[in-house]
Amino acid sequence: MASPDLLSLAGQRALVTGAATGIGKGIVEALAKAGADVALNYRSHGEEAEKLARTVEAMGGKAVALQADVSKEAEVISLFDAAERDLGPIDIVVSNAGLQRDAKIADMTLEDWNTVIEVNLTGSFLIGREAIRRFRGKGMGQSRSLGKLVFNSSVHQRIPWAFHANYAASKGGLKLLMESLAQEVAPERIRVNAIGPGAIATAINAAEREGDGEKEMLKLIPYGRIGEPEDIGRCVAWLVSDAADYVVGQTIFIDGAMTLYPEFRGNG
Ligand code: NAD
Repeated sequence: MASPDLLSLAGQRALVTGAATGIGKGIVEALAKAGADVALNYRSHGEEAEKLARTVEAMGGKAVALQADVSKEAEVISLFDAAERDLGPIDIVVSNAGLQRDAKIADMTLEDWNTVIEVNLTGSFLIGREAIRRFRGKGMGQSRSLGKLVFNSSVHQRIPWAFHANYAASKGGLKLLMESLAQEVAPERIRVNAIGPGAIATAINAAEREGDGEKEMLKLIPYGRIGEPEDIGRCVAWLVSDAADYVVGQTIFIDGAMTLYPEFRGNG
């Protein structure tokens, strides 16, 4: 008998939030390439989401674009209902939607704070909670685990980030949300993990990369290049596959070594 392809996601269904742009798009493309059907959530990029859904279909999979705000409880529940109606039971959930509202602490408004916490942290809670509820109601499917849940965190769950206190706090909170959920549901064969991207070229940091920005960023990246959404997509496709079946409760930093304190390297 041929050995199973542990990297294959054939016969599995994924839901990705904030899927129309940037890293989410890279994740959708990688999951589809590995054989998964994909529900693409978007809040405000309907056209891009529909276009990406057609790309997934052209690759041979099923896809559906679904609008929802991940920070709204009722919308998250309806999102899962719609994804299951269109694709069937969901095996893989990637909570990717996120945003920044940067400000010096003395200038940071309560709205800047609340907006970031509501989307990055509360949104992750709502998506994670609903994912676990739905995993519990389904059969084992094609995978060795009942369900796979991945949160898109950041290197800033570990590295403090001046002038971005709301964002760093949201990702720091996400670290322990992920680890606590992983500990709680691992006995049910549900795998919860996170990824921690470094500097990835997307809209979220387009302004920071302008002018000398990219040169400044590269000083923090020993590996010498800014990351691309595909770098993240490939890692997530592996993380949710059976090839990573024993990886539980971990944050995989995908960051060109940004988390290795590059300023301590010196010049030898
Ligand atoms: P992006 O702005 O292209 O993607 C974020 C997506 O989330 C957008 O499509 C946006 O519309 C969506 N979104 C925002 N609020 C939403 C809501 N309430 N409901 C549903 N969708 C919502 O930027 P990106 O870099 O691709 O960011 C994706 C994730 O990656 C974020 O969680 C971000 O914090 C994380 N991240 C990015 C980097 C980076 O360097 N780009 C580094 C570390 C972590």
